[in-house]
Amino acid sequence: MTSSKARRTKRIVTLLAKNYPEAECALVHSNPLELLVATILSAQCTDIRVNIVTKELFKRYRTAKEYAVADPLTLQQEIYSTGFFRNKAKSIQGAARMIVENHGGEVPRTMEALLELPGVARKTANVVLGTWFKEAAGVVVDTHVRRITRRLKLTNEEDPKRIERELMELLPRKEWIIFSHRLIWHGRRVCTARKPKCEKCLIARCCPSAGKTA
Ligand code: SF4
Repeated sequence: MTSSKARRTKRIVTLLAKNYPEAECALVHSNPLELLVATILSAQCTDIRVNIVTKELFKRYRTAKEYAVADPLTLQQEIYSTGFFRNKAKSIQGAARMIVENHGGEVPRTMEALLELPGVARKTANVVLGTWFKEAAGVVVDTHVRRITRRLKLTNEEDPKRIERELMELLPRKEWIIFSHRLIWHGRRVCTARKPKCEKCLIARCCPSAGKTA
């Protein structure tokens, strides 16, 4: 890593912290199982929509066992509006079964064990570990983090796993969890996918793409 990139990263971290001191996970949850389910549902779906769906869902299903034994068609209907509902229902039930069979009904708290759950990849595992267990095992790279770190030229990679690896090298470990939360907030409010508001962006002076993204 060049020292100028390191300096720029430090500045970005500081500015994001100043602008989004209160950034946190937008998925409503009150335990790790709810967060796991909400994160699975959030693929290709807005957090607002997920929160609408989980408001009712979490009243009906309180344990991994309840998801595991649920009627698949009923569950599909209940999560239908989040999109990709068949795959998501399959992931939720597969993960729930493994949680019951291998982990005594409790969501595991290691990256290794989480990645063994059906339908759980690094992004979901990082969300659960970082947000609920406060374990910095990696950096969440969702669509916002991917887009913005590429615009900021913190990475030139396309693949989320490679982006995550670069960010883990670039950022101090204590920033791994909160950096993603802040970038996600920034992505929703300012550095949006279609029309980034560069003129209002408070990290524009650190961004090589400022004013250049159509
Ligand atoms: S300057 Fe524009 S492209 Fe760069 S981070 Fe800000 S909004 Fe995004």
